[in-house]
Amino acid sequence: MSLKVLKFGGSSLADAEHFRSVAEIVKSDPARRYVVASAPGKRMSGDSKVTDLLYKCYALACDDEDITEVFDEIKARYNSIIEELGIELDLTEAYEKIRFSMLHNSGRDYVASRGEYLNAMILAKYLGFDFIDAKKVVFFNEDGTFNAERTNDVMRDALSTREYAVIPGFYGSMPNGTIKTFSRGGSDITGSIVARAASATLYENWTDVSGFLMADPRIIDNPKPIKTITYKELRELSYMGATVLHEDAIFPVRYSKIPINIRNTNSPDDKGTFIVPETDEISDYIITGIAGKTGFSNITIEKAMMNSELGLGRKVLQVLEENNVSFEHFPSGIDTMTVVVSTKALQDKRADVLAGICKNINPDNVFVEENLALVAIVGRGMVKAKGTAARIFVALAEAGVNIRMIDQGSSELNIIVGVDANDYVTALNAIYKEFVK
Ligand code: ADP
Ligand code: ASP
Ligand code: MG
Repeated sequence: MSLKVLKFGGSSLADAEHFRSVAEIVKSDPARRYVVASAPGKRMSGDSKVTDLLYKCYALACDDEDITEVFDEIKARYNSIIEELGIELDLTEAYEKIRFSMLHNSGRDYVASRGEYLNAMILAKYLGFDFIDAKKVVFFNEDGTFNAERTNDVMRDALSTREYAVIPGFYGSMPNGTIKTFSRGGSDITGSIVARAASATLYENWTDVSGFLMADPRIIDNPKPIKTITYKELRELSYMGATVLHEDAIFPVRYSKIPINIRNTNSPDDKGTFIVPETDEISDYIITGIAGKTGFSNITIEKAMMNSELGLGRKVLQVLEENNVSFEHFPSGIDTMTVVVSTKALQDKRADVLAGICKNINPDNVFVEENLALVAIVGRGMVKAKGTAARIFVALAEAGVNIRMIDQGSSELNIIVGVDANDYVTALNAIYKEFVK
């Protein structure tokens, strides 16, 4: 029997008009039983997401500054939704509790989580569904990692007694009962968790674009939609900046191989993108999609005879580990080795990392180059296909873009190129044009 879990993103629940569209979508199919809600997002460009306003309140409260103006803005967002929808719901007490907590050292995550908490309460009331507080059904371990099994057991029990329910996304609770959130965009993960616990036949992720597109629509004009994409391809693309779905949203549904369908709340008849465990479907192009991010740095280490020095790579990575900096890529030559890291993560640790490398391996030279952008070209069609890399390099060369790093995953599912951040947009456009247009 068909059972669908739906997650609506911030822009899909930004105002009363969107709530009406959401209700229409949910009510049009009785199999649409469990709904995960995000906090209200931007209503138009230049607007604020409620989550950002909550973080702002928290920062003001920490600095002992007045939160009234920002807090009133948040309340006004919810109140206008409630009033325009004409629902009987008085959140005065909830607001007071949140305001009090903000002023009395409640955690940052608690404050941020209230965005989804309040929005889910409103949506549950509007739909006539039960409300399940995520703190009672989503759990983290002492070390802050997600407790998948306990969550699945408790969530499954909670859902089994309710035919229709709304669950706030983004947060859960720590063993001591305090609130913890996933990273930004984490309501996608909650949707996936609910889909797994409900043994859903489909997880519909409703957003403001008609599916996963072959490139970021903010950079490439009118990119082509992707009909079907595998979990693995999606991981590569979302990790590399295709933010339409959180990169960790695959894990909970992976167990039961539940497909995810990305859909557009503003254009509900569009079929969107299907994200599936595996597929034989041949995509229209060799590549499935392109994504990228700026904000990376290269740490390059030079040492004569490096190739024959046992344990050298380990010693370099050990320095990063000790400084809590994770690495993205690790391309090497015979006497050189480069570690690509996030510039932000390296920021305050740069001197310690360089000193550690000098001490650990005594290199001839070590230096950092900033301003690197990474572009990932991803596609199951690339596996064993000849000439894909050549086409990428020629396209970049013809666009006048110098390649600073190349990395091909051993699965052949992706090729990642590092370019100067100033060339980022040119590089994306050149590669897209080469493969798609
Ligand atoms: P939601 O609030 O529904 O969770 P997000 O803002 O997190 O939505 O994700 C949707 C946005 O992701 C789109 O509006 C689009 O600007 C951006 N985006 C980036 N890369 C892609 C891509 N490859 N395909 C579709 N959207 C993308
Ligand atoms: N509201 C949270 C955010 O803005 C979570 C989400 O939207 O998924 O990051
Ligand atoms: Mg999102």
